[in-house]
Amino acid sequence: MIEDRIEYHRNAVALIPEPDDPDPGLVIMVIGTSPLGPSLICDCRKALKNRNCAHAKAQSAAIKDTPDFDSLFRQSI
Ligand SMILES: [Zn+2]
Repeated sequence: MIEDRIEYHRNAVALIPEPDDPDPGLVIMVIGTSPLGPSLICDCRKALKNRNCAHAKAQSAAIKDTPDFDSLFRQSI
């Protein structure tokens, strides 16, 4: 379940890799002040060539309806 691998931070969200992924990638999206929007990185091999890897797409789909990371962060343990 992808929701179990998502960690919300005050201004960021991370997707933890699946243990059995042959090309595991840790995706981190940081909400900053850049007019270009959030920055997103994944450390998988595919992301070195193509920034929009499957991990980044999975994270985007999983959080698309999340309104506010800070609120989730404050409600968490
Ligand atoms: Zn990736």
